[in-house]
Amino acid sequence: MPQHTRVLIVGSGPAGLTAAIYSARAQLNPIVIEGEPSSTTDQPGGQLMLTTEVENFPGFPDGITGPELMANMRAQAARFGADLRVTKVQKLDTSSRPFRAWLTDDTEPSISADAVILATGARSLMMNVPGEERLLSHGLSTCATCDGFFFRGQDIAVVGGGDSAIEEATFLTRFASSVTVVHRRASLRASKIMQERAFSNEKIHFAWNTQVVEVLGEERVAGLRVRDAVTGEERTLDVSGVFVAIGHIPNTTLVNGQLDLEENGYVRTGNGSFTTVDGLFAAGDVQDHVYRQAVTSAGSGCIAAIDAERWLEAQGI
Ligand code: NAP
Repeated sequence: MPQHTRVLIVGSGPAGLTAAIYSARAQLNPIVIEGEPSSTTDQPGGQLMLTTEVENFPGFPDGITGPELMANMRAQAARFGADLRVTKVQKLDTSSRPFRAWLTDDTEPSISADAVILATGARSLMMNVPGEERLLSHGLSTCATCDGFFFRGQDIAVVGGGDSAIEEATFLTRFASSVTVVHRRASLRASKIMQERAFSNEKIHFAWNTQVVEVLGEERVAGLRVRDAVTGEERTLDVSGVFVAIGHIPNTTLVNGQLDLEENGYVRTGNGSFTTVDGLFAAGDVQDHVYRQAVTSAGSGCIAAIDAERWLEAQGI
């Protein structure tokens, strides 16, 4: 028999853990499936586990590291009785209620749930150029916090022009001799304050209007083949490390075909966190392609918990 819960939360980033804190305090005894540390782009705690200083989460005037912030949220959820499990949902069936979730390959579901809060977040986009897949974890990384240490004294590149790229580039100057930001346009998308920090950092250089065409190297990154987007000219950038920071895609595999998605693949939520499936709520980056901040994600986890609680009450469950 599957274990029954009133609220199943899938995901353990700020959205999932905030939903856990709220539903646990509402005595809903939520089960939280946190995910597994399977790769740098997919792990319990979500993307903040890959962040260094978080300076804009209210309540921390001196900043806090991403992993510390997530550890605090987790402890807070556990304190109120959330049942936190480091494992993955393999399959979710929302075609009838109670919903069913499989944590193993068994034919029998592991959990049945009256309501589900989907907070599976988003993961790093990749460039899809030759050499990228082969050299992932061999000099090519999506996580400066995880891998920066390995590039001490080296010349490296960061691909992208948003906040992630600039944050990573700035962080990586702690280790690397030089960091070249390779950006496909002539201006950055990153916030002004982060741009200014990067422009005044003498270790950071910029390759503007530059597209990556290939990651070079057999067993380790040995360079980047890049093309000038204006002249079409190609050249090789002499770097021994590459950090890819070009954005994210939502983790919707579990619910594909079961609910409406936006055209860009994010879960469609209309009113609050309600999805197009009654009883299935979505929070955080899996449904937000606009704000994508830790604080907005936490806020949407709170909204989902309150929506789920009121929905359960209205159903008389
Ligand atoms: P983003 O803002 O979407 O930026 C992605 C960057 O990668 C853009 O500069 C984009 O170029 C470039 N890009 C996209 N696809 C590419 C491709 N195939 N090849 C080469 N370049 C490509 O993503 P993000 O930087 O990950 O940030 C996501 C959100 O998180 C943002 O809202 C950001 O503010 C937030 N964030 C905040 C912080 C912070 O405040 N500490 C840190 C990290 C992220 P174009 O500019 O030409 O489109």
